[in-house]
Amino acid sequence: MTSYTSWAYVPTSTQKAIKPAWMDFDLGATTGSLLPYGNGRSYGDSCLNSSGLVIDSKSLNRFISFDTEQGILRCEAGTMFADILQFIVPTGWFLPVTPGTKYVTLGGAIANDVHGKNHHHDGTIGRHIRCFELLRSDGKSLICSPKENTDFFAATIGGLGLTGFISWAEIQLIKIPSPFMSVETTVFHGLEEFQTLSEQANTNHRYSVAWLDCASSGKDFARGLFMVGDHANSDKEEKERVLEPKISVPFNLPKQMINKYSVKAFNTLYFNKNRLNEGKIIYQHYDSFFYPLDGIGNWNRIYGSQGFYQYQFVVPSSQLSVMEQALNKIVASGLGSFLAVLKEFGDLPSPGMLSFPSPGLCLALDFANRGETTLALLQQLDQLVINAGGKVYPAKDVRMPQAAFQSYYPNYEEFEAYIDPRFISDFWRRVSEKKS
Ligand SMILES: Cc1cc2nc3c(=O)[nH]c(=O)nc-3n(C[C@H](O)[C@H](O)[C@H](O)COP(=O)(O)OP(=O)(O)OC[C@H]3O[C@@H](n4cnc5c(N)ncnc54)[C@H](O)[C@@H]3O)c2cc1C
Repeated sequence: MTSYTSWAYVPTSTQKAIKPAWMDFDLGATTGSLLPYGNGRSYGDSCLNSSGLVIDSKSLNRFISFDTEQGILRCEAGTMFADILQFIVPTGWFLPVTPGTKYVTLGGAIANDVHGKNHHHDGTIGRHIRCFELLRSDGKSLICSPKENTDFFAATIGGLGLTGFISWAEIQLIKIPSPFMSVETTVFHGLEEFQTLSEQANTNHRYSVAWLDCASSGKDFARGLFMVGDHANSDKEEKERVLEPKISVPFNLPKQMINKYSVKAFNTLYFNKNRLNEGKIIYQHYDSFFYPLDGIGNWNRIYGSQGFYQYQFVVPSSQLSVMEQALNKIVASGLGSFLAVLKEFGDLPSPGMLSFPSPGLCLALDFANRGETTLALLQQLDQLVINAGGKVYPAKDVRMPQAAFQSYYPNYEEFEAYIDPRFISDFWRRVSEKKS
């Protein structure tokens, strides 16, 4: 028995796992319910199967082929983004889309159809997947691509690991001139200012994202830092060292350390420190631009042993007032977190049936687990999101009620036809009719 957890530590599941060493293993030889497990960087219970087996994919981490002319990489699905980057960056290629941590597997990234700071420019990762192999529990395997088994291709991208096990995948990379990024920061006050900056930046820059202060009210309400970035043309400028975990949180901190006073103080400090960079173009290594949190080992422990909730939602851009109402509720509750990330998604369609990203304003933030108080706030946020025609991200969720899921993802019934009969997650037990 090994302990398999999700990133937010709210559910912990000690359960059995199978650990295939080669990608042609036979799922038909197993019994009981199954769920693929990547690196557990999902925050909630979509990567857990507490009453069955998880298929631990970490040993399936071999590179299969790399066309250095065309930037086409094929590797096993358990290969970590960190390893892919180490391999491809020296050859002048980069991942077309990356989330805010490089410690995710390729299979896990496909199953959540992850997005990054370049959503407005490149859409989700599924748009860059050329093909993959899907193993089903009846022992069959399917090659899926935009031309072959297209229905399974669409169901598996963003399919939460429920359609079968991806054994390998082929991805189209993007060309980069150097490992460095040019980055510029602008201060904003209010969501309208954010939206104006976002509209301008999204036509001129490949990457954009904002940090939003979710603790301040009055004149500082909805203040933030808007960052744009591009792959830098030269690596001659001042550079940072590769950021490897240097600081580490060795154990769970006592819950008293995270409270509305410490959060407010941190946010003010962060805002004032970073606003000093306003108007300057900074050259940063890609590691510190894309993965600032990876520089702090085990940062998820700062919330203590009771864990935390992450809440990420998107509402159409026309619903700015809903985002404002949500923010008002968060500020008034005093439960908001250190790190709130605001991004305007573009309109490039996501290829997955259940993909989360859709055009609009997307906010992601952590809430320390204060039991019923936190849950009551999240329920109020759900109501705002439902009424605005938005959705909540399953990769970050551990509590979404069934009715809310069905409202966010109205095509779930179409998706159900592609679920492997033996595959299920704790998330799916909660949001669907299927309980075993
Ligand atoms: C610090 C941090 C920042 C993040 N930033 C972002 C972000 O910017 N954008 C974003 O979209 N997400 C973000 N995430 C979430 C993360 O990218 C996703 O949850 C990702 O899917 C985790 O990948 P994993 O390999 O750890 O997979 P797991 O969390 O282990 O599993 C994720 C899902 O993939 C399925 N799965 C795993 N392997 C396979 C396989 N071989 N075949 C089929 N299904 C499989 C699992 O069943 C599960 O449903 C962030 C997470 C963290 C911790």
